[in-house]
Amino acid sequence: MSQPRNALRDLPSVDRLSNHPDTEPLNKAYGRSLTVEALRQTLEQTRAELKRGDNNGSAIDDSTLISDAKSLLEIWLAPTLRRAINATGVIIHTNLGRAPLCDSALKAVQEVAQGYSTLEYDLDTGKRGSRHAHAESLLRRITGAEAVLVVNNNAAAVLLALTALAGRTDIAPNGRGAIISRGQLIEIGGGFRIPDVMAQSGARLIEVGTTNRTHLHDYENAISADTALILRAHRSNFAMVGFTSEPTLAELAELAHAHDLLLVDDLGSGALLDTAPFGLAPEPTAQASLKAGADIVMFSGDKLLGGPQAGILIGKAEIIERARRHPLARAVRADKLCLAALAATLTHYLKGDALAQIPVWQMISQPPDAIKQKASAWQETLLAAGLTCELIGGESAVGGGSLPGETLPTTLLAISVSAPEQAAAQLRRADPPVIVRIEEDRLIIDPRTALPRDEPDLLAALRAIA
Ligand SMILES: *Cc1c(COP(=O)(O)O)cnc(C)c1O
Repeated sequence: MSQPRNALRDLPSVDRLSNHPDTEPLNKAYGRSLTVEALRQTLEQTRAELKRGDNNGSAIDDSTLISDAKSLLEIWLAPTLRRAINATGVIIHTNLGRAPLCDSALKAVQEVAQGYSTLEYDLDTGKRGSRHAHAESLLRRITGAEAVLVVNNNAAAVLLALTALAGRTDIAPNGRGAIISRGQLIEIGGGFRIPDVMAQSGARLIEVGTTNRTHLHDYENAISADTALILRAHRSNFAMVGFTSEPTLAELAELAHAHDLLLVDDLGSGALLDTAPFGLAPEPTAQASLKAGADIVMFSGDKLLGGPQAGILIGKAEIIERARRHPLARAVRADKLCLAALAATLTHYLKGDALAQIPVWQMISQPPDAIKQKASAWQETLLAAGLTCELIGGESAVGGGSLPGETLPTTLLAISVSAPEQAAAQLRRADPPVIVRIEEDRLIIDPRTALPRDEPDLLAALRAIA
């Protein structure tokens, strides 16, 4: 029983540990003051353990304490935002960071991030330029829009558009009316709900129609002197089937313009390429929205566009200008890294090599045979490592609030293990972590969403669960 008391008394001081030769590498790696902090916390913990008598009498030497402090330092400084391997088969996985960037976008980010840039500098005049110029001409060329504005994300784009076009002003202190179908009062996830965004913008929500059916005359009957716009919100993450109907965008445009209203289209994902050639339902494109007569169209940069997080507003010059001039625009503006990555990503749409260069589109357009070949090569590796592993047909999803319920045929690896939840947890602890699905007590690996550079790490992590 005298052991704990002695051990307590024999604990070294922070000073002694701090000057111990074993501490020197920690000082170098982590800095002196953080290292002292870790040594102090280690000593405190050890003292508390000794007092409780749960150190089972093991000798406590200085090197052990320093090594414990090292573990603390590692935990404190380990990045929580890390690379991860997506083996789920959900291409635009919001929790896993949505779209991986293409090579040219990565290069552009590095170029611009490493030093100074022409973010707001006009080289021709030597005077202040506009950050909006960088993606603007590319997006105008691709979509045919008169004008473009890029902000932080699409939630910000929708908030900004509604605030600038129907929010509170001196003339309309209670905001102006924004008409939307009850079938489009959606929640996207992450706290984005159309009615809440409307309320925040100051626009007055005028809901019309029913959940499943809204007619053109429902919109028409709701128009009054203080109505500013009709909002169309794309039902990104669910589908309505059965007895449903709503007017086309072109019909809404005609109605809006006949009454001097604006038609505002929240496209959500907003594809720039047609998804139909890949056996998917057509996701509405930004170009088609403009063609149908929308005055302003908003969509994300990191969904089907396959670029960085961004919110893109395109449309009539005068309308975009109203959004750009609103004070909120400054609060939600895009940063230089986003603009560099976005511009580089967009060049692939103009050059016509988006399918080959942009990871999201590479994954969508991967031929089923190529996936099957990859799956069967992996299966061989895993069988050789002693795992029980079968190839099965399955489906990949596009995800990210686009094409709800639509899937792409794929070949999955189904791995049988005795404790699938534990095995999945072990894969999450791998470096880099591997994220998989569990179905019918088997680990399911979809090769579609594993990037080429992930392959060695993915296979190593899987072999380790054998
Ligand atoms: C995804 C989505 C948003 C939000 O876009 P973020 O880029 O995630 O901010 C808004 N509206 C719709 C219809 C969406 O699908």
